[in-house]
Amino acid sequence: MIVAKFGGTSMADAKQYRKVAEIVRADPERRVIVVSAPGKRFSGDNKVTDLLYTLYMHLQYGVPYDDIWNMISGRYAEIAEDLGITGVKSELDALKAELSKQMDQNYLISRGEFFSAKLLSEYIGFTFLDAKDLIRFSYDGTVDEEETEKRIRSSCDPFGSYVVPGFYGSYSNGDICLFSRGGSDITGAYLTGCLEASLYENWTDVPGVLTADPRIVSGPKTVEQITYAEL
Ligand code: ASP
Repeated sequence: MIVAKFGGTSMADAKQYRKVAEIVRADPERRVIVVSAPGKRFSGDNKVTDLLYTLYMHLQYGVPYDDIWNMISGRYAEIAEDLGITGVKSELDALKAELSKQMDQNYLISRGEFFSAKLLSEYIGFTFLDAKDLIRFSYDGTVDEEETEKRIRSSCDPFGSYVVPGFYGSYSNGDICLFSRGGSDITGAYLTGCLEASLYENWTDVPGVLTADPRIVSGPKTVEQITYAEL
């Protein structure tokens, strides 16, 4: 089994979702897919996670938030419409109805990955598994590895195919806890380790590690193999 993680730029719009589906289908061993929230589509664009943080601040300060909400929900609606899938409209509407100053910050931020995974699971026909039921945090903010391993192993059938939102898990009382920014990579690593997958692939929107920044140097070479320390 291969665990494949796709970052924000790989989930940014419907075109990227199509690419992800193509990559997943190219190898039947790719059966556990971990995703980030939609990232930037072009320079100057917003990452959904950043918009969710801004939305949270709007709620805290009692500032009107309709515009920012429409930007967030619009990203998912656009992807669903373009892919011709039902999407997450009813869940987004339910979240909108719950928005208030009392809304839990971690819960709100985690919806970026949650909706992204929901859309992909519908699109590629893999089972959605909520990270809150897999990744268990202790109250000091570290991962309870024993409990996480137990949960991951009991939730994943070795022959099943799953999409899992990255970046968050939960405490034993069910409250959501986040990894630090960029943390979906860690979700993928836990799934890989706990399921003893043969490979962990961390996909991004560039063709590999290059010898120079291609925006500055033209035609840099791709590094075929690199150790962790060298990277
Ligand atoms: N969406 C989160 C972030 O922007 C986590 C991630 O992408 O890994 O940091």
